[in-house]
Amino acid sequence: MASGAELIRKIKESIREVDPKEVHEAVANGNGSGPLLVDVREQHEFEEGHIPGAVHVPRGHLESRIENKASDKSQQVILYCASGQRSALAAHTLQSLLGYEDVASMNGGITLWKDRGYEVETPRSLTPEQKSRYSRHLLLPEVGLEGQLKLLDAKVLLLGAGGLGSPTALYLGAVGVGTLGIIDNDVVDVSNLQRQVIHTNDTVGEPKVDSAERAIKALNPDVNVVKYNARLDASNIMEVIEGYDVIVDGLDNFPTRYLLNDASVRLRIPVVSASILGFDGQLSVFAPYDGPCYRCLYPTPPPAELAPSCGANGVLGVLPGTMGLLQATEVVKLIIGTGDPLIGRLLLYDALAATFTELKVRRDPDCPICSREPDAISDDEMGVFPDYEAFCAGV
Ligand SMILES: [Zn+2]
Repeated sequence: MASGAELIRKIKESIREVDPKEVHEAVANGNGSGPLLVDVREQHEFEEGHIPGAVHVPRGHLESRIENKASDKSQQVILYCASGQRSALAAHTLQSLLGYEDVASMNGGITLWKDRGYEVETPRSLTPEQKSRYSRHLLLPEVGLEGQLKLLDAKVLLLGAGGLGSPTALYLGAVGVGTLGIIDNDVVDVSNLQRQVIHTNDTVGEPKVDSAERAIKALNPDVNVVKYNARLDASNIMEVIEGYDVIVDGLDNFPTRYLLNDASVRLRIPVVSASILGFDGQLSVFAPYDGPCYRCLYPTPPPAELAPSCGANGVLGVLPGTMGLLQATEVVKLIIGTGDPLIGRLLLYDALAATFTELKVRRDPDCPICSREPDAISDDEMGVFPDYEAFCAGV
């Protein structure tokens, strides 16, 4: 049997090693098309400083995670560690076991790189408490530290702290969305508690924004809650929604939905929209100019029996939980930029049948709002829906 030192020497002979100078030049001249740099050290080593632009795949997770970062096996991949030993072993694995065609290990590792005076980037990190809190996200390569930092930096606005807003707010708070805006001018009523799980018996009679804030803060102190104890209307919508990354629409009436659509298209803010009635739910993501808008889907208000704003309607208490959490899932995907968001697709959920149905929704080239340039949508036009009042009054 070979000794460890002999094995490493043999492996080093079978792979290509490159000098930090060569790597530095390739990265500087690559303009984004240079080699993929992979740091194979442990998490804490990476956090203390790494080569700018390098991706992180700890050697212990190399086989399972490298393909997420380097899907093209013909691309040039340069691995490095602290001294060049672990990266040599990793390069051997990529080359001889995983079929990567152009692999090299950086000689001397980041230690020699630093000695040469080349730049090192120290990434933002999480506090020890946050590392523990978000540990199950950090274990997912699709989220990881980068995704968690995106969540902590994100600003999400919830329209309503009611049936849909309650589960959405709790989970977005739990996963560490850094800023949660909530607009709602209602107070908590006993009849809300059958489904609005963010509120409790103790908060009956309190403004919903205060009750929701207390629950979110109790769950996760990382979250900054911005409260708007108001009703969203044409006079305040631009001011309220501007600056948010994603809007979660749990609105209960159609006129405000059209207003929201027009304003969010103008400001290019994606809206994750859900609605519920009885045992049925609907969900879609409206990403301005990337996919259809709400008016592309509903050029005219839906038939009266599907318009819950026209009167009090029943709803199964668990249904807003299901739909609200599907909304929260889409919000997280949009923030971390992973997966296939529900853009251009309408998801229908039938709780009694336990079925999901998906419909394709296309952009309407004649849409009164999203077929035009954002600046061409005037204040006077936003949310205007001439037939709506008459339509509702006729029910
Ligand atoms: Zn449209």
